[in-house]
Amino acid sequence: MEEVKCYIPKSLSEALKIRKESKARPLAGGSDLMVAYYKGIGIAPTFPFPVMIITSLQDELGKIFMDEDNVVHIGALATPSDIASSPLIPFPVREAASRMGAPSLRNTATIGGNIANASPKGDLPQPLILLDASVTLKSEDGERTILLDDFITGSKKTLLRDDEIISEILIPPVKATHYFYHKIGMRRSNAISKLSLSAMFDIEDGVVRDFRASSGAAGPKVRRSREAEMLFIGLKIEDLPSRLPEFLEKWNAILSPHAMPEYRRVSTRRMLLAFIEKVSHGLEPGNYQ
Ligand SMILES: Cc1cc2nc3c(=O)[nH]c(=O)nc-3n(C[C@H](O)[C@H](O)[C@H](O)COP(=O)(O)OP(=O)(O)OC[C@H]3O[C@@H](n4cnc5c(N)ncnc54)[C@H](O)[C@@H]3O)c2cc1C
Repeated sequence: MEEVKCYIPKSLSEALKIRKESKARPLAGGSDLMVAYYKGIGIAPTFPFPVMIITSLQDELGKIFMDEDNVVHIGALATPSDIASSPLIPFPVREAASRMGAPSLRNTATIGGNIANASPKGDLPQPLILLDASVTLKSEDGERTILLDDFITGSKKTLLRDDEIISEILIPPVKATHYFYHKIGMRRSNAISKLSLSAMFDIEDGVVRDFRASSGAAGPKVRRSREAEMLFIGLKIEDLPSRLPEFLEKWNAILSPHAMPEYRRVSTRRMLLAFIEKVSHGLEPGNYQ
Protein backbone atom coordinates (compact mmCIF):
# COMPACT_ATOMS: atom_id res chain seq x y z
CA MET A 1 0.00 0.00 0.00
CA GLU A 2 1.33 3.45 -0.97
CA GLU A 3 1.85 5.87 1.90
CA VAL A 4 0.84 9.51 1.76
CA LYS A 5 2.65 12.02 3.93
CA CYS A 6 -0.12 14.10 5.45
CA TYR A 7 0.00 17.05 7.86
CA ILE A 8 -2.89 18.54 9.83
CA PRO A 9 -1.76 21.94 11.17
CA LYS A 10 -3.37 23.39 14.29
CA SER A 11 -2.79 27.02 13.29
CA LEU A 12 -2.03 29.10 10.23
CA SER A 13 1.48 29.85 11.50
CA GLU A 14 2.14 26.10 11.86
CA ALA A 15 0.72 25.57 8.35
CA LEU A 16 3.07 28.18 6.88
CA LYS A 17 6.05 26.53 8.59
CA ILE A 18 5.04 23.09 7.22
CA ARG A 19 4.49 24.56 3.77
CA LYS A 20 7.94 26.16 3.75
CA GLU A 21 9.77 23.11 5.07
CA SER A 22 7.97 20.25 3.30
CA LYS A 23 6.27 22.00 0.34
CA ALA A 24 3.12 20.03 1.33
CA ARG A 25 0.21 20.92 -0.96
CA PRO A 26 -2.85 22.36 0.78
CA LEU A 27 -5.92 20.10 0.63
CA ALA A 28 -9.11 22.02 1.42
CA GLY A 29 -12.41 20.53 0.18
CA GLY A 30 -10.41 18.04 -1.92
CA SER A 31 -12.95 18.21 -4.76
CA ASP A 32 -10.26 19.01 -7.35
CA LEU A 33 -7.24 17.33 -5.74
CA MET A 34 -8.96 14.02 -4.86
CA VAL A 35 -10.49 13.81 -8.35
CA ALA A 36 -7.15 14.56 -10.03
CA TYR A 37 -5.53 11.61 -8.17
CA TYR A 38 -8.57 9.28 -8.23
CA LYS A 39 -7.45 5.67 -8.50
CA GLY A 40 -10.80 3.91 -8.84
CA ILE A 41 -13.87 2.96 -6.80
CA GLY A 42 -12.97 1.82 -3.29
CA ILE A 43 -9.30 2.76 -3.68
CA ALA A 44 -8.04 5.68 -1.60
CA PRO A 45 -6.33 8.33 -3.75
CA THR A 46 -2.60 8.66 -3.21
CA PHE A 47 -0.53 11.72 -3.94
CA PRO A 48 3.03 11.85 -5.23
CA PHE A 49 3.69 14.78 -2.85
CA PRO A 50 2.97 15.52 0.82
CA VAL A 51 -0.41 17.09 1.55
CA MET A 52 -1.61 19.35 4.32
CA ILE A 53 -5.29 19.19 5.27
CA ILE A 54 -6.10 22.83 5.95
CA THR A 55 -9.77 22.48 6.95
CA SER A 56 -8.42 22.53 10.52
CA LEU A 57 -7.78 26.28 9.97
CA GLN A 58 -11.47 27.17 9.78
CA ASP A 59 -11.20 29.78 12.56
CA GLU A 60 -8.45 31.67 10.76
CA LEU A 61 -9.38 31.10 7.11
CA GLY A 62 -13.15 30.53 7.13
CA LYS A 63 -14.65 33.92 7.87
CA ILE A 64 -16.52 36.40 5.66
CA PHE A 65 -16.66 39.98 6.94
CA MET A 66 -16.58 43.64 5.86
CA ASP A 67 -13.89 45.91 7.31
CA GLU A 68 -14.14 49.61 8.22
CA ASP A 69 -13.14 50.56 4.64
CA ASN A 70 -16.06 48.48 3.26
CA VAL A 71 -13.70 45.90 1.80
CA VAL A 72 -15.29 42.42 1.89
CA HIS A 73 -12.89 39.70 3.12
CA ILE A 74 -13.70 36.12 2.11
CA GLY A 75 -11.56 33.53 3.93
CA ALA A 76 -9.97 30.96 1.63
CA LEU A 77 -11.93 28.15 3.32
CA ALA A 78 -15.34 29.78 2.72
CA THR A 79 -17.54 27.33 0.81
CA PRO A 80 -19.85 28.16 -2.11
CA SER A 81 -22.77 27.77 0.36
CA ASP A 82 -21.21 30.32 2.76
CA ILE A 83 -20.69 32.72 -0.16
CA ALA A 84 -24.14 32.23 -1.70
CA SER A 85 -25.80 33.07 1.61
CA SER A 86 -23.70 36.10 2.56
CA PRO A 87 -25.50 39.46 2.09
CA LEU A 88 -22.07 41.18 2.14
CA ILE A 89 -21.09 39.66 -1.19
CA PRO A 90 -22.17 41.31 -4.47
CA PHE A 91 -24.77 39.48 -6.58
CA PRO A 92 -22.65 37.98 -9.40
CA VAL A 93 -20.33 36.15 -6.96
CA ARG A 94 -23.25 34.94 -4.81
CA GLU A 95 -25.11 33.74 -7.89
CA ALA A 96 -22.04 31.95 -9.30
CA ALA A 97 -21.48 30.22 -5.92
CA SER A 98 -25.13 29.17 -5.67
CA ARG A 99 -24.88 27.37 -9.02
CA MET A 100 -21.66 25.44 -8.41
CA GLY A 101 -22.00 21.66 -8.40
CA ALA A 102 -24.60 19.96 -6.19
CA PRO A 103 -25.43 20.91 -2.55
CA SER A 104 -22.84 18.45 -1.16
CA LEU A 105 -20.10 20.08 -3.25
CA ARG A 106 -21.29 23.56 -2.30
CA ASN A 107 -20.86 22.60 1.36
CA THR A 108 -17.33 21.19 1.02
CA ALA A 109 -15.49 22.92 -1.87
CA THR A 110 -13.72 26.19 -1.07
CA ILE A 111 -13.09 29.50 -2.79
CA GLY A 112 -9.34 29.12 -2.15
CA GLY A 113 -9.34 25.78 -3.99
CA ASN A 114 -11.40 27.18 -6.88
CA ILE A 115 -8.91 30.02 -7.35
CA ALA A 116 -5.69 28.01 -6.81
CA ASN A 117 -6.93 25.37 -9.25
CA ALA A 118 -7.35 28.16 -11.85
CA SER A 119 -9.44 26.06 -14.20
CA PRO A 120 -10.83 28.17 -17.07
CA LYS A 121 -14.18 26.56 -16.17
CA GLY A 122 -13.96 27.50 -12.48
CA ASP A 123 -17.00 29.61 -11.65
CA LEU A 124 -15.77 32.04 -8.99
CA PRO A 125 -12.82 33.85 -10.66
CA GLN A 126 -15.01 35.34 -13.42
CA PRO A 127 -17.37 37.48 -11.27
CA LEU A 128 -14.53 38.18 -8.79
CA ILE A 129 -12.42 39.64 -11.61
CA LEU A 130 -15.43 41.78 -12.64
CA LEU A 131 -15.30 43.25 -9.13
CA ASP A 132 -11.50 43.86 -9.20
CA ALA A 133 -11.01 41.35 -6.36
CA SER A 134 -7.54 40.60 -5.00
CA VAL A 135 -6.05 37.56 -3.36
CA THR A 136 -3.87 37.58 -0.23
CA LEU A 137 -1.06 35.02 -0.09
CA LYS A 138 0.73 34.26 3.16
CA SER A 139 4.08 32.62 3.74
CA GLU A 140 6.57 32.45 6.62
CA ASP A 141 8.33 35.40 4.99
CA GLY A 142 5.28 37.69 4.99
CA GLU A 143 2.24 38.34 2.82
CA ARG A 144 1.40 39.86 -0.53
CA THR A 145 -1.89 40.91 -2.10
CA ILE A 146 -2.29 40.58 -5.86
CA LEU A 147 -5.15 41.48 -8.20
CA LEU A 148 -6.89 38.17 -9.02
CA ASP A 149 -6.75 39.04 -12.72
CA ASP A 150 -2.93 39.08 -12.43
CA PHE A 151 -2.69 36.12 -10.01
CA ILE A 152 -4.32 33.74 -12.55
CA THR A 153 -1.91 33.80 -15.46
CA GLY A 154 -3.46 31.10 -17.66
CA SER A 155 -5.25 27.76 -17.67
CA LYS A 156 -4.31 26.10 -14.32
CA LYS A 157 -1.50 28.61 -13.89
CA THR A 158 -1.13 31.07 -11.02
CA LEU A 159 1.53 33.10 -9.26
CA LEU A 160 1.22 30.94 -6.08
CA ARG A 161 4.66 30.03 -4.71
CA ASP A 162 5.27 26.63 -3.16
CA ASP A 163 5.75 28.19 0.27
CA GLU A 164 2.48 30.20 0.14
CA ILE A 165 -1.13 29.63 1.15
CA ILE A 166 -4.08 31.70 -0.09
CA SER A 167 -5.50 33.25 3.06
CA GLU A 168 -8.32 35.43 1.76
CA ILE A 169 -9.97 37.11 -1.19
CA LEU A 170 -10.72 40.83 -0.98
CA ILE A 171 -13.55 42.60 -2.80
CA PRO A 172 -13.12 46.40 -2.79
CA PRO A 173 -16.21 48.58 -2.27
CA VAL A 174 -18.32 48.64 -5.41
CA LYS A 175 -21.31 50.75 -6.38
CA ALA A 176 -23.64 49.27 -8.97
CA THR A 177 -27.29 49.84 -9.82
CA HIS A 178 -27.59 46.91 -12.26
CA TYR A 179 -25.88 43.51 -12.11
CA PHE A 180 -26.04 40.68 -14.65
CA TYR A 181 -24.77 37.12 -14.21
CA HIS A 182 -25.39 34.17 -16.49
CA LYS A 183 -23.85 30.72 -16.68
CA ILE A 184 -24.52 28.36 -19.55
CA GLY A 185 -24.12 24.70 -18.64
CA MET A 186 -25.93 21.46 -19.35
CA ARG A 187 -28.25 22.12 -16.40
CA ARG A 188 -29.07 25.05 -14.11
CA SER A 189 -26.76 23.69 -11.41
CA ASN A 190 -24.47 20.68 -10.98
CA ALA A 191 -23.05 21.56 -14.39
CA ILE A 192 -19.60 22.70 -15.40
CA SER A 193 -19.68 26.09 -17.18
CA LYS A 194 -19.65 26.11 -20.94
CA LEU A 195 -19.78 29.87 -20.81
CA SER A 196 -20.33 32.51 -18.16
CA LEU A 197 -20.78 36.25 -18.28
CA SER A 198 -21.04 38.98 -15.65
CA ALA A 199 -21.69 42.67 -16.24
CA MET A 200 -22.59 45.69 -14.15
CA PHE A 201 -23.70 49.29 -14.59
CA ASP A 202 -23.74 52.07 -12.08
CA ILE A 203 -26.20 54.70 -13.30
CA GLU A 204 -26.71 58.05 -11.58
CA ASP A 205 -29.15 60.66 -12.94
CA GLY A 206 -29.29 58.79 -16.25
CA VAL A 207 -25.50 58.83 -16.70
CA VAL A 208 -23.21 55.78 -16.67
CA ARG A 209 -20.79 56.18 -13.75
CA ASP A 210 -19.33 52.67 -14.03
CA PHE A 211 -19.62 49.77 -16.45
CA ARG A 212 -17.76 46.43 -16.45
CA ALA A 213 -18.13 43.06 -18.16
CA SER A 214 -16.20 39.80 -17.85
CA SER A 215 -16.38 36.56 -19.77
CA GLY A 216 -15.52 33.13 -18.32
CA ALA A 217 -15.02 29.52 -19.44
CA ALA A 218 -14.23 30.74 -22.90
CA GLY A 219 -10.46 30.69 -23.09
CA PRO A 220 -7.46 30.05 -20.87
CA LYS A 221 -8.40 32.94 -18.61
CA VAL A 222 -11.27 35.24 -17.62
CA ARG A 223 -11.41 38.17 -20.05
CA ARG A 224 -12.30 41.82 -19.57
CA SER A 225 -11.73 44.74 -21.94
CA ARG A 226 -11.11 47.84 -19.86
CA GLU A 227 -10.80 49.79 -23.14
CA ALA A 228 -14.30 48.73 -24.21
CA GLU A 229 -15.71 49.41 -20.73
CA MET A 230 -14.34 52.98 -20.75
CA LEU A 231 -16.36 53.76 -23.90
CA PHE A 232 -19.60 53.74 -21.89
CA ILE A 233 -18.45 55.63 -18.82
CA GLY A 234 -19.82 59.19 -18.71
CA LEU A 235 -22.47 58.50 -21.40
CA LYS A 236 -26.18 59.17 -20.98
CA ILE A 237 -28.00 55.82 -21.04
CA GLU A 238 -29.96 56.78 -24.17
CA ASP A 239 -26.63 57.31 -25.97
CA LEU A 240 -25.38 53.76 -25.23
CA PRO A 241 -26.69 52.28 -28.53
CA SER A 242 -24.70 54.84 -30.58
CA ARG A 243 -21.45 53.56 -28.96
CA LEU A 244 -22.28 49.88 -29.45
CA PRO A 245 -20.40 49.36 -32.75
CA GLU A 246 -17.18 50.79 -31.28
CA PHE A 247 -17.77 48.84 -28.04
CA LEU A 248 -18.31 45.59 -29.93
CA GLU A 249 -15.15 46.04 -31.95
CA LYS A 250 -13.06 46.23 -28.76
CA TRP A 251 -15.06 43.53 -26.93
CA ASN A 252 -14.76 41.15 -29.90
CA ALA A 253 -10.99 41.57 -29.83
CA ILE A 254 -10.85 39.78 -26.45
CA LEU A 255 -13.01 36.85 -27.60
CA SER A 256 -10.34 34.73 -29.22
CA PRO A 257 -11.56 32.64 -32.17
CA HIS A 258 -8.76 30.14 -31.31
CA ALA A 259 -9.85 29.59 -27.72
CA MET A 260 -13.56 30.11 -28.27
CA PRO A 261 -15.79 28.48 -30.89
CA GLU A 262 -18.00 30.84 -32.89
CA TYR A 263 -21.26 29.80 -31.15
CA ARG A 264 -19.78 30.75 -27.78
CA ARG A 265 -18.60 34.13 -29.06
CA VAL A 266 -22.06 34.76 -30.52
CA SER A 267 -23.81 33.73 -27.28
CA THR A 268 -21.56 35.93 -25.12
CA ARG A 269 -22.11 38.91 -27.42
CA ARG A 270 -25.88 38.41 -27.51
CA MET A 271 -26.19 38.14 -23.73
CA LEU A 272 -24.11 41.25 -23.18
CA LEU A 273 -25.88 43.27 -25.90
CA ALA A 274 -29.32 42.32 -24.57
CA PHE A 275 -28.33 43.57 -21.10
CA ILE A 276 -26.83 46.84 -22.42
CA GLU A 277 -29.87 47.50 -24.62
CA LYS A 278 -32.29 46.90 -21.75
CA VAL A 279 -30.34 49.32 -19.54
CA SER A 280 -30.35 51.93 -22.33
CA HIS A 281 -34.16 51.61 -22.40
CA GLY A 282 -34.42 52.36 -18.68
CA LEU A 283 -34.26 48.90 -17.07
CA GLU A 284 -35.09 49.16 -13.35
CA PRO A 285 -32.06 48.80 -11.02
CA GLY A 286 -31.65 45.21 -9.83
CA ASN A 287 -29.98 41.84 -10.34
CA TYR A 288 -30.58 40.07 -13.64
CA GLN A 289 -29.66 36.74 -15.23
C1 LIG B 1 -18.68 16.69 -8.98
C2 LIG B 1 -17.94 17.98 -9.10
C3 LIG B 1 -18.63 19.10 -9.56
C4 LIG B 1 -17.96 20.32 -9.68
N1 LIG B 1 -18.66 21.42 -10.11
C5 LIG B 1 -18.03 22.61 -10.20
C6 LIG B 1 -18.76 23.78 -10.64
O1 LIG B 1 -19.95 23.74 -10.94
N2 LIG B 1 -18.07 24.94 -10.72
C7 LIG B 1 -16.74 25.04 -10.37
O2 LIG B 1 -16.19 26.12 -10.45
N3 LIG B 1 -16.04 23.94 -9.96
C8 LIG B 1 -16.65 22.75 -9.86
N4 LIG B 1 -15.94 21.64 -9.45
C9 LIG B 1 -14.50 21.79 -9.15
C10 LIG B 1 -14.17 22.03 -7.63
O3 LIG B 1 -15.21 21.59 -6.80
C11 LIG B 1 -13.90 23.51 -7.35
O4 LIG B 1 -12.82 23.98 -8.13
C12 LIG B 1 -13.62 23.76 -5.86
O5 LIG B 1 -13.86 25.12 -5.55
C13 LIG B 1 -12.21 23.37 -5.43
O6 LIG B 1 -12.10 23.65 -4.04
P1 LIG B 1 -11.53 22.56 -3.02
O7 LIG B 1 -11.50 23.21 -1.69
O8 LIG B 1 -12.30 21.30 -3.12
O9 LIG B 1 -10.07 22.39 -3.61
P2 LIG B 1 -8.96 21.23 -3.35
O10 LIG B 1 -9.27 20.05 -4.21
O11 LIG B 1 -8.78 21.00 -1.89
O12 LIG B 1 -7.70 21.98 -3.93
C14 LIG B 1 -7.62 22.37 -5.29
C15 LIG B 1 -6.25 23.02 -5.53
O13 LIG B 1 -6.15 24.23 -4.81
C16 LIG B 1 -5.04 24.17 -3.88
N5 LIG B 1 -5.50 24.88 -2.68
C17 LIG B 1 -6.67 24.70 -2.00
N6 LIG B 1 -6.80 25.62 -1.04
C18 LIG B 1 -5.70 26.40 -1.09
C19 LIG B 1 -5.25 27.52 -0.34
N7 LIG B 1 -5.98 28.07 0.66
N8 LIG B 1 -4.05 28.07 -0.65
C20 LIG B 1 -3.30 27.56 -1.66
N9 LIG B 1 -3.68 26.50 -2.42
C21 LIG B 1 -4.87 25.94 -2.13
C22 LIG B 1 -4.76 22.69 -3.67
O14 LIG B 1 -3.43 22.46 -3.28
C23 LIG B 1 -5.07 22.15 -5.05
O15 LIG B 1 -3.99 22.36 -5.92
C24 LIG B 1 -16.58 20.42 -9.32
C25 LIG B 1 -15.89 19.27 -8.85
C26 LIG B 1 -16.56 18.08 -8.73
C27 LIG B 1 -15.82 16.87 -8.23
